[in-house]
Amino acid sequence: MSKVKCLIAGGAGFIGSHLCETLLAQDLEVICLDNFITGNRKNVEPMINNPLFHLVEGDVTKPLDKTSQSLISGVQFIYHLASPASPGQYQKYPAETLLANSLGTFNLLEIAKANGAKFLYASSSEVYGNPQQHPQRESYWGNVNPIGVRSCYDEGKRFGEAMVMAYVRKDDLDARIVRIFNTYGPRMDKDDGRVVSNFTVQALSGMPITVYGDGSQTRSFCYVDDLVSGFLILMENEKARGEVFNLGNPEEHTILEFAKFIKQLTESSSEIKFTDLPEDDPTRRQPDITRIKQILGWMPKVSLEEGLKQTIAYFRSL
Ligand code: NAD
Ligand code: UDP
Repeated sequence: MSKVKCLIAGGAGFIGSHLCETLLAQDLEVICLDNFITGNRKNVEPMINNPLFHLVEGDVTKPLDKTSQSLISGVQFIYHLASPASPGQYQKYPAETLLANSLGTFNLLEIAKANGAKFLYASSSEVYGNPQQHPQRESYWGNVNPIGVRSCYDEGKRFGEAMVMAYVRKDDLDARIVRIFNTYGPRMDKDDGRVVSNFTVQALSGMPITVYGDGSQTRSFCYVDDLVSGFLILMENEKARGEVFNLGNPEEHTILEFAKFIKQLTESSSEIKFTDLPEDDPTRRQPDITRIKQILGWMPKVSLEEGLKQTIAYFRSL
């Protein structure tokens, strides 16, 4: 009997590789489509010999070759995670980021429509910009600088969401949008400039921990396993169809608190060094997860301490 086919665009990235692994463990056939702009072959190496895993090197903004098209034929689930994600990476690749979330979303939605597949779009808390409502609910429209340094990402995700909703409304496509809040865990890129990787690598090597600004800005960190379990519930549950959900851990910390916590967990003697705050850095960010809790019964389970211990162990092993 043929297996259920899933397409993971961006499957060689940090979150995508965890998702691929989880789907393979459920005995599903996994097609990972990635152009490696920010992904890493090492992330998918442990899966490469699994007969249910297929790696397609390709770009979601471009037509697929014939071989990839026939591999994808009959796909039942499409997860669109293909986009640079860290501020450093999307500012290095602004046009690519806009295109992955606009044209890339369009191309993948067309594949979903042609195959009658279910679709999940990985949007971001960045659609809320520098939020004036706190915590952020799905009903909030956001406060985004459309020409700022982060706009390639924020507006890319907002466009992507609008594109998904166009297919939901016009074609009755079985699609859902997930607004992901800061997620961390093993296989984060140590050089992509995000706060979890920067602080951990700095603390482990005795380098100064670089807190931008005075560290009073806040973030709420979700462990990757919790995020992936949320993806599966969102894909399976009929109540998620045509809807948007925040996905993240609502425990909010200032960045300075976070730096001190990493220092403590790594038993590091690194000093904390205050440097300039980047342009348009959101002041506060915390997901309101009431909707996903009440409608789909999802809640994060991994504590910050437990998740960071796993993440620190990963960075130590590199
Ligand atoms: P990542 O950079 O590790 O993974 C993204 C993957 O997409 C990479 O493997 C990259 O090579 C691939 N990719 C990018 N453009 C592509 C294209 N045009 N065609 C094919 N592949 C392409 O990032 P991540 O942290 O794993 O994020 C995954 C998704 O989740 C992204 O869409 C991101 O915007 C979203 N997200 C992540 C976070 C987070 O905290 N990590 C927060 C909000 C949203
Ligand atoms: N940050 C920091 N030092 C670093 C990296 C990031 O103080 O070395 C801060 C950054 O200014 C932001 C927060 O940590 O306020 C989260 O940054 P990240 O790049 O991880 O993601 P963002 O939530 O901004 O997209």
